[in-house]
Amino acid sequence: MKDALREACALLQQGEIVALPTETVYGLAADAFNPAAVAKVFAAKQRPAFDPLIVHIASRGDLKTVALVPADIADTVEQLTKTFWPGPLTLILPRHPAVPDLVTSGLPTVAVRQSAHPVFRAINKALGHPIAAPSANRFGRISPTSASAVIKELGGRIPLVVDAGACSEGLESTIISIEPRAGKKPIFRLHRAGPITKEQLQQFGRVEKVRDVAGQVLLAPGQLASHYAPRTPLVLLEKPADFQPEAGKRYGLLSYTGADDGPYVTLHDWDCIESLSPGGGKLAEAAIRLFFVMRTLDEAGLDAIIAEPVSETGLGVAIMDRLRRAASGTGTGTGTGTGTGTGTGTGLAKSGMADAI
Ligand code: AMP
Ligand code: MG
Repeated sequence: MKDALREACALLQQGEIVALPTETVYGLAADAFNPAAVAKVFAAKQRPAFDPLIVHIASRGDLKTVALVPADIADTVEQLTKTFWPGPLTLILPRHPAVPDLVTSGLPTVAVRQSAHPVFRAINKALGHPIAAPSANRFGRISPTSASAVIKELGGRIPLVVDAGACSEGLESTIISIEPRAGKKPIFRLHRAGPITKEQLQQFGRVEKVRDVAGQVLLAPGQLASHYAPRTPLVLLEKPADFQPEAGKRYGLLSYTGADDGPYVTLHDWDCIESLSPGGGKLAEAAIRLFFVMRTLDEAGLDAIIAEPVSETGLGVAIMDRLRRAASGTGTGTGTGTGTGTGTGTGLAKSGMADAI
C-alpha cells in the first residue's frame, strides 16, 4: 500500500477525517462507526446536523453491517447492486442499529453505496469499517472534483487530502429509495439525479419523483433549493433572449460546447467563456467538467455567470439539477460585458497515483 493510503487509513483509525477521491467527487471521510469522527465531518464542512451522510462499504457483502434489507426488496437490491456497484448509485435502506444517529441525522434509513475508485476502495477495505463521506466542500458550495478544489474549500481544517487526480464522473451519486409492488416491478424514488440515469434504472423498476401527500416534490434532506453555489451570482437561461445585460457589468458564459457560432456564444461580448464539452464528448464530458468550470468562472472576478441550458435527457437531468440549484438563491447579475477571452481548461478524468499533500 502506498504511503498516502497508509497514512489516510491510520488517521481514520485514530478518529480523524481525511479527504479521499471517489469516482463522483472528492469526499470528506470518517469511520462511520465512530460518532466523534463523524462529528468532525459536520464541523469541518459547517454542515447542519439535519443533512445525513452517505455510508460507503468496501464490498457488497458488507451491506448487512449497515442496512437491514427487507425481504420484499431483497431481489431488487441484489439486481441493482450487482449491476451498478461498485459505482455511483446510492440506495436508501432501513438502517442497521450499528450505524450512529449522527450519520443518518436520526432517520430510520441509511444511504449506502460502494465506491468504484481504486484508492477509496483500498482504504475502505483496509479500514475494515464503513466510511461516512459527504462531498469535501463547505456546506452549500461547489463540490470538489480535484484535490486542489478540496484545499480551496477545506484547507487548514483537515489533516490530509489524498490526491488521485480528477474524478471520472464529476457529479454526486444518484440516490434512490425502493418501494416494492406485489407482482410488478418496484418503484424507485429519485432523491437525487446523478450519473446513473433514469434510463439505466428503468430496466429494473419505474423511476418516480419523491412526493409528499400534497403532491409536492420532496428530495433528500440535504437537497436544498440552493446548493452547489458559486459566490458569483449564476443565472441559468432558458433561451438566449432571456439575457438582459446591464451596462458596465462583466459577464462570463458557462457554455455547453463553446462553438463559435452557437446562439449563446454569439449573444454577447463575453468577458470569458468556459465550455462544459469543448472536446465534443457532450453530456458525459459536461458532467465531468461541470464543477470544475463553475469554480473557474467563480474565480474570474465576474459580476455574473450566465449559464446556457443543456438537454434534459440522460446525464443532462443531473447537470440541469445542479445548475438550477447553483442559480437558486444567487442574484441576477446584469450589465454589458466588456472585453473578450476564452478559456476552456482541462478537467477530464485521469487516474493517478495517490500522493499525500
Ligand atoms: P453528499 O454526501 O454531500 O453527497 O450528500 C448526501 C446526500 O444524501 C444528501 O443530500 C442527504 O440528504 C442524502 N441522504 C443521506 N442519507 C439519507 C437518507 N437516509 N434518506 C434520504 N437522503 C439521504
Ligand atoms: Mg454534498
